[in-house]
Amino acid sequence: MSTQHDLIVIGAGPGGYVAAIRAAQLGLNVACIEKEPALGGTCLRVGCIPSKALLESSELYEQAGNSLINRGIRIPKVELDLPRMLEQKNQTVSTLSKGIDGLLKKNGVTRYLGHGRLTAPGAVRVTDKKNQTTELTGKNILIATGSVVATLPGIEIDGERVVSSTEALSFPSVPGKLVVIGGGAIGLELGTVWRRLGSKVTVLEYMNRILPGMDDELAKASLKILKSQGLQFQLGARVTGVTLNRKTCDVHIKGQENLRCDRVLVAVGRRPNTADLGLEAVGIETDKRGFIPIDETYQTSVPGIYAVGDVVGGAMLAHKAEEEGIACVERIVTGYGHVNYDAIPAIVYTSPEIASVGATEEELKESGVEYRKGSFPFAANGRARAIGHTEGMVKILADKKTDRILGAHILGPHAGDLIAELAVAIEFCASSEDVARSCHAHPTLAEAIKEAAMAVDRRAIHF
Ligand code: FAD
Ligand code: NAD
Repeated sequence: MSTQHDLIVIGAGPGGYVAAIRAAQLGLNVACIEKEPALGGTCLRVGCIPSKALLESSELYEQAGNSLINRGIRIPKVELDLPRMLEQKNQTVSTLSKGIDGLLKKNGVTRYLGHGRLTAPGAVRVTDKKNQTTELTGKNILIATGSVVATLPGIEIDGERVVSSTEALSFPSVPGKLVVIGGGAIGLELGTVWRRLGSKVTVLEYMNRILPGMDDELAKASLKILKSQGLQFQLGARVTGVTLNRKTCDVHIKGQENLRCDRVLVAVGRRPNTADLGLEAVGIETDKRGFIPIDETYQTSVPGIYAVGDVVGGAMLAHKAEEEGIACVERIVTGYGHVNYDAIPAIVYTSPEIASVGATEEELKESGVEYRKGSFPFAANGRARAIGHTEGMVKILADKKTDRILGAHILGPHAGDLIAELAVAIEFCASSEDVARSCHAHPTLAEAIKEAAMAVDRRAIHF
């Protein structure tokens, strides 16, 4: 087997494996190096997919125990089978991971199992678990090594009682009391999972709000809903350390009483993964926060070496990594490739979901852009009433002069799927009137989007 390739991709997460497939489609001879036996990266192995499997299962469990009775469905005794729930999650991951294996084979991508390390421009060494090495050469190299969990000074993640998201996806039993440090996406999603399964969950957030970066009005509304569901919050809580007792943990918060619990989930962000990557061997320097700097073609400071995904910073999202991977290799092969960073949606999969694309209201105010705002509550949407999920709203922000949609935010049922329409609208430079005049089927949740677009011009019908 030749170890000479047109493109060597290091890392088979959403950034890496998608780039590898697209490059192969474009006719390149591609290698993809992944150190883990299962392909798919953080996203598939210990991120997006397993968390969504548990969110779905825990929501069904809660509905079966609490709310289905309101629809005339009586289930006499609902019991949790946690091992089976975890097994369903693991099976989902394993099936999808094998699927990626199949896709790489189908597209003729050569897979190398081992740790990739740059040894010179155009050269990568793969070291497997038995310490055997394979030397690869490639005209182009793409670094897609992703990110790893970050922690706080004074807190050591032991994987048992003080854990990261990875272990919190596989707790062997439901913790009595769980403290979550960080009110971001991971904190809210996994906090919700374990609350639904029976834990008493407290989220400690350093800022005076949850979900920093998301639209404030929706973040506030979602905080209220999450509290009403039983998730407890302490905002403005700066965690300074955790001490382990014989069976419990004490979480230290600046200026406040310690909080005692059984387990602590540290969810304060992730940091770029450049460990033992050989960046110094080729002369790539990372920035202050450890990210790999790139230009608009995704090229690093070394010609022929590119980087995409979590390792380059920006939104740490799987679909952002995928878009960058595709744009990067299309640019290498065709000379053109581009990502519109104003049209990348972000979703938090709590219930209801929180979804966002484009500018928030705060960002528009800060940049002095004049805008008009249209909102529509799900409580006034027929389908939302029929399915019994009436919380939340759609909010559309459009340029005051041109009516072009600048941002859209949804808190509500299936918000994560609904936001796609508005991401496409932003991509196509649509006005709010374009969306308002597009026919939306009845009765659908998407009608709330049409009505919010109409509300920009003060002409919503049902509210
Ligand atoms: P990664 O997915 O981290 O992939 C990098 C790969 O490179 C890994 O497989 C790693 O093993 C491999 N690797 C690293 N170094 C080497 C080396 N030297 N040699 C060989 N292989 C190497 N994002 C969303 O968009 N939606 C979500 O719902 C979502 N949920 C999440 C939930 C959790 C709990 C977490 C932790 C993250 C979640 N994310 C979500 C974020 C998402 O997982 C990341 O943004 C995404 O995985 C980044 O893709 P990537 O390809 O850049 O890196
Ligand atoms: P995050 O950056 O989204 O949230 C971290 C939170 O921790 C912030 O709100 C921050 O203010 C808080 N924090 C920081 N220091 C603190 C301290 N000392 N005490 C208390 N709070 C503190 O990070 P995350 O939730 O860990 O997620 C990591 C990455 O994974 C994010 O980039 C996120 O986008 C991605 N992710 C995405 C999804 C999704 O798309 N649904 C789901 C999970 C994770």
